[in-house]
Amino acid sequence: MSSKLRILVPVKRVIDAAIKPRINKTQTGVETKGVKFSINPFCDIALEESIRIREGAKDLVEAIHAVSIGPTKAQDVLRVALAKGADTSTLIDVGEEEVEPLNVAKLLQKVVEKENSNLVILGKQAIDDDSNQTGQMLAGLLNWPQATNASKVEIEGDSVTVTREVDGGSDTLRAKLPLVITTDLRLNEPRYASLPNVMKAKKKPLEKLKASDFGIDIVKRLETLKVDEPPVRAAGIKVETVDELISKLKELKAI
Ligand code: AMP
Repeated sequence: MSSKLRILVPVKRVIDAAIKPRINKTQTGVETKGVKFSINPFCDIALEESIRIREGAKDLVEAIHAVSIGPTKAQDVLRVALAKGADTSTLIDVGEEEVEPLNVAKLLQKVVEKENSNLVILGKQAIDDDSNQTGQMLAGLLNWPQATNASKVEIEGDSVTVTREVDGGSDTLRAKLPLVITTDLRLNEPRYASLPNVMKAKKKPLEKLKASDFGIDIVKRLETLKVDEPPVRAAGIKVETVDELISKLKELKAI
């Protein structure tokens, strides 16, 4: 495999992180009508990291390819990725169908093969389903090493050092390419796309394919039975003294 980097960045279109989602009337999911969608924040971090790797060592990076699996409108997040610095992109148009992480990973495996990628940088999770599964499943399918929840990535030749955030400290790993990395929140702060780059991105390649082009059946194995709002928190009370506080806590069996 070439030691030049051919980076694949999967980007998911999700309800904008600033919006408080509402449950739909049928209680089968969240309301998507009239709601703003954006690039998943962890995917934005993955994209930013791939651009910074190129900026740090221009000759090292041969290609940055963005891919999104979603409705036709997911083109928007690919255009953002192209405006920020991806060279080329693929939309796998699945209509309004929700694709489970295993099927996303199977499709990404095909894109890795097609693009001859040797580094995949994904978000650690998509904020809509919070699955935190796709990167791990993709590494399993490819039989590649994986470094999840990265807070620092350093590349030297075909050797990659990844610092991961773990409870109470950090964990530093080294692996050879090819590799799957998933990004944590503190890895970097993504840039905004400049207007000239947004205009230029309109001319960059965006290939449109279907899951069937890869021979992958995106049939669901999970059925959503019901989606509920979290219980409303009961109002608190004010106590006048520490003794009263202690007796209340005892009453609630909190101490
Ligand atoms: P998840 O396992 O669903 O929490 O997603 C983790 C990461 O996998 C995301 O941050 C994306 O990088 C990638 N991913 C998941 N679903 C998609 C999708 N439909 N299209 C592109 N990338 C995806």
